Parts: sequence; structure tokens; C-alpha cells
Amino acid sequence: IINIRHAAKSYGSLEVLKDISLQVTKGQIVAIIGPSGSGKSTLLRAINDLDPLTSGEVWLEDEQVNKPLPPRQYETHINKVRQNIGMVFQHFNLFPHLTVRENITLAPKMLKGITGAQAEELAVEQLTKVGMLDRIDYYPSQLSGGQKQRVAIARALAMKPKVMLFDEATSALDPELVEEVNLVMKQLAEEHMTMIIVTHEMGFAQDVCDRVLFMDQGVVVEEGPPDVIFKNPANERTRNFLRKHL
Ligand code: ATP
Ligand code: MG
Repeated sequence: IINIRHAAKSYGSLEVLKDISLQVTKGQIVAIIGPSGSGKSTLLRAINDLDPLTSGEVWLEDEQVNKPLPPRQYETHINKVRQNIGMVFQHFNLFPHLTVRENITLAPKMLKGITGAQAEELAVEQLTKVGMLDRIDYYPSQLSGGQKQRVAIARALAMKPKVMLFDEATSALDPELVEEVNLVMKQLAEEHMTMIIVTHEMGFAQDVCDRVLFMDQGVVVEEGPPDVIFKNPANERTRNFLRKHL
């Protein structure tokens, strides 16, 4: 469903991504692990062209995400593509002046041309899924970090995306709030949502993911099933990293 071909990205002379190719099939759950600065976020953000690549291609199904187009056409194109790619960041980027309900219904109403009532239904459905329906009329400031993150996930899901991207969704949370967010992600995994998850939580990656990619200095050093990567990694750099993080 996602096909990244020879992705490269530089900031000036700094090569952040070096010829990365990656295919993710429908329903697959891929974890990306690796040291700080290895390019994990840059790669994830390249998937919806938030961080455009210097060279290479990103495809979502039969559509090139980073298609070279004149600015106005690109805008229309990328807005459509991004509707299919849900993204959840480390810092819950909910709109602070909107209630939970409004945070969730805003994008579907604006971008999907659905009625208020239909959007409302979507909000109820997704909030139920993440166990937050009772907070539908709260403002983000009235929620805990874990609750905010669950709302952020519900908001992304309300667009009915084909793929969900998570960039350290739990790393800004107090330890006791991590589990409630992990549970929501596990539930999505059971429903076979296609997901790419950047995480520092090796246990979670091991439990939930089908495939693990270890990145270092802009390359995918090693990838494979969690059992292999975590228990029997082939590469010295992977072993070193895991020694510090397991
Ligand atoms: P972390 O685990 O700390 O989140 P990461 O693997 O997500 O790290 P990236 O955020 O992808 O790493 O950053 C990769 C490299 O790109 C880093 O060296 C970073 O300093 C550099 N970088 C990221 N954004 C920019 C930018 N806008 N301008 C210049 N360099 C950047
Ligand atoms: Mg990062």
C-alpha cells in the first residue's frame, strides 16, 4: 500500500536519509527504531510529504504522493492524499480552542463534504473506540496527556485513513498513561490497520509489529520480524543499540 523508492533527503550537506526503499503491504504493522537523529521522523514525515524528499518517490497505492506538480495542482493533490494518511505526533496537536467533538468533526466536515450529523456520528464512533466518548464536550486543556493522545488518534481515524503513522505517540506521556494509548494502538493492530510506528518502546514493538526496521545515520541498517531483530540481530550496530535500549 506504501512504496518508498530510493528516498534521499539532505539539509545542506547533511544527508539525513540515504537511499531508503521500503514497501509496506496492506494490514502490515511496521516499527521503526533507531538512535536519535537517525532520520526516523524525517522518513515518516516524507510519507505524507510534510518533509519533502530531495530525491526518490513515495507512492500510496497507485498514486505518487510527492508528484512534481505546479503549486496549485500540488495543493489539491496533496490535500487529497493526506486524507488517506492519519498521523499522530509526540505532542498531541489538538486545537486548544475547540472541544473534543469539534476537533474531530472539523476535518471530515471541511474535506469530505459530509453533513454535521454524519460528522457527529463519526466522532461518536471513533471516540467510543478509544474510550473517550464521555469527554466529547471537554476542551483539550481539561484532558490528561493520554486522553489527549487518544482523542488525537480518534481524530485521525475519523478521516478513515488507509494508513496510520505514529511518531513516538507515547514518549511525551507519564509512564502510567502510556499503556492506555498503547492499548488503543494494539486494538488498531488487531483490526489490521496498516501502521508505521516510530517508537522507543521495544516491548511494544515486539508485541505489536510484524516487522521492525532499525535505522542509523539515515539508512535502514537491518530489518526483519521482531523475533529476529530483538533476539538475534545480524548487525553489530543493531546489537549495540538494543543493548542500550532493551
Ligand atoms: P529522534 O529519535 O530524536 O526523534 P529522529 O530519528 O526522528 O530522531 P530526525 O528528526 O528525522 O531524527 O532527524 C534526522 C536528522 O536531520 C538530525 O540530524 C536532525 O538534526 C536533522 N534535521 C531534521 N530537521 C532538520 C531541519 N529542518 N534542518 C536541518 N536539519 C534537520
Ligand atoms: Mg523523531
